[in-house]
Order: sequence, then C-alpha cells, then structure tokens
Amino acid sequence: MATIIDGKAIAAAIFAEVASGVGEMAAAGVGLPGLAVVLVGEDPASIVYVGRKLAHTRKAGFQSFEHRLPAETNEVDLLELIEQLNANPMVNGILVQLPLPPHIRANRILDAIEPLKDVDGFHPVNVGRLSIGTEGLVPCTPLGCMLLLETVIEDFRGLKAVVIGKSNIVGKPVAMLLLERECTVTVTHIATRGLPEIVRSADIVVAAAGSPGLVRGDWVKPGAVVIDVGINRIGTPGIDSRLVGDTAFVELGHAAAITPVPGGVGPMTVACLLRNTLIAAKKQQRSALPGDGRQKRLVSLT
Ligand code: NAD
Repeated sequence: MATIIDGKAIAAAIFAEVASGVGEMAAAGVGLPGLAVVLVGEDPASIVYVGRKLAHTRKAGFQSFEHRLPAETNEVDLLELIEQLNANPMVNGILVQLPLPPHIRANRILDAIEPLKDVDGFHPVNVGRLSIGTEGLVPCTPLGCMLLLETVIEDFRGLKAVVIGKSNIVGKPVAMLLLERECTVTVTHIATRGLPEIVRSADIVVAAAGSPGLVRGDWVKPGAVVIDVGINRIGTPGIDSRLVGDTAFVELGHAAAITPVPGGVGPMTVACLLRNTLIAAKKQQRSALPGDGRQKRLVSLT
C-alpha cells in the first residue's frame, strides 16, 4: 500500500517551527512579523481562503492587516494601497488574493509589491531568482510540494519528475524547484500529447491541472511518488458535494507514496505562507542592519 503523506501533520510541524521563530523574535524585543492580506471583491472561494490565512496568521502570533475592498475598486486605488503597505515597516509580507476582478490587471498589481515583502513569490524578481536558483521568496504551494516530497525522498538527483500543469502559481515554479534538485523534469499541459505514457515514465508525479481524477492508476508506475495539488469540488451541493484531487486516489495503491485531498498539499500552502512571512521579516530586519547576513540564502530546501 502507498504511504499516505500526511500534509496536515507536516504543516503542523511547520506552524510549530514558525511559532517558535516568532517567540524568539518576541524574546529579542524585535517587532512581530506582520502579514497584510488584500481581498478585492466577494469571490466565495477567495473569502474562505483569506479567512483561513488570517486565522492562521493570528494563531501564529503574527500581526495581521486585513484589507477587504469592494469589487469595483480601481487599479489606481489598489496600487496606492500596495504602496502604503510597501512603506509600512510593520508589514513584512503582502498577499493579494487572486483572482482579482477582470478590470484589474493582476500583473500590474503583483509587480508593484516590494519583492522583499512578496510572500507569495509571484513578483518577477522572485520568479527570476527561482529560475536562476538564487535566494528569493518561493511560491507557497510549490514550496509545500517540495517539503512533502522531502519527507519520502532522500536523494532527488536523476529522478524523473513529470509536472502536470504549467501555471505560474504551481506548475512552472514546482518544475523549477525539482530542476534545482537535479531531477529530470517534464512539464505537461492541456495540449500535451500522450500524457498517460509520459506520466508512466515518472518517479515523481506532481498533478496540478484542476481536473478531477485525471491521473488514473495505470498512468502511474509502481513505486512512484505522487503529489496531488488539485482541489476540485464535485457532486451536488448539500447532497454529496466533496473535494477531490487530480488523481484517482483509490487506484494508486501501487505508488510508493501519495498525498490525499484534502489533507495533503492544501495545509502546506498556508504553513508555507507563514514560513515565508517569517523569513521575510527576518530578512527585512537584517537588511536594516548593514553587513549582517545580507548574502545569506533565504530559502534553503537542502
Ligand atoms: P490553472 O488553471 O492556472 O492551470 C492548470 C494547468 O493544468 C494548465 O497549465 C493547463 O494546461 C493544465 N491542464 C488542465 N487540464 C489538463 C489536462 N486534462 N491534462 C493536462 N494538463 C491539463 O490552475 P492552477 O492555479 O495551477 O491550479 C491547479 C489545481 O491546483 C487546481 O485544482 C487548483 O484548485 C489547485 N491548487 C491548489 C492549491 C493548494 O493549496 N492545494 C494551490 C493552488 C492551486
């Protein structure tokens, strides 16, 4: 039987690590990490995600700054808020919940966030750093995937990894992180031909397509490790509505290890957000002290 990778337990360990980091900061008499969360509009899923992020932020002892703006907020006003948050020394991390309403260009907003406060890792500076393998803030979900993989894989070098999905949020950054660990990485997407055969060659499968049950049992070779990023709601609301991933979970008993949905990647995303905020806070303090550890690598997965 495949080992079930318990994302909840691993995330709980990260929350505990973060809490102890916050305790150290409090003991040292430096300001507590501050996370600003910006939500524009009333997308129901976004409201749930933001609520969860804020609850964990407070539980971890961070200062939280909540900005809920109406859907008709314009780009200029949102950019002004980002500028204020960039300049606010109490705010160490800025998260703008996506998707934004269609009249706001998400790229323009993300580009305006100070890279040192970009705890989602979506700013082009952080994306660039990730792609050249230097220090930076790494997107939370891909980072969570790597931390989960590290619990079951000791040596990544030379392993074949297939990533399903090429989004900027999950597919591309997770591919970069796997490449950094010297996996041989194939990135696939909706137009990929012969997907089942490609997946069958993989030692590591990361499924991030948003397609319920896409990866079938006979797509996965025995002994592969499967990370299921997908969150898909299926069934009829109020009757049999439930969350499923991008894999046919029950068909994957022959995998070496697999993440469940829910309880796999999901909890890791929030845990990595807090981890990134703590890293950003420490980095900003170091930046304020000339000569102190400025060259240190921000996120080390080794
Ligand atoms: P996206 O829609 O931006 O990208 C999906 C990608 O999958 C695209 O590159 C597309 O080409 C590819 N794809 C779609 N259907 C495919 C198919 N049948 N075969 C091959 N490739 C296919 O989505 P995203 O933001 O990257 O999210 C992907 C999934 O991960 C969603 O279910 C999302 O809800 C989930 N997600 C989960 C978390 C988490 O915290 N667990 C975080 C982010 C996203």
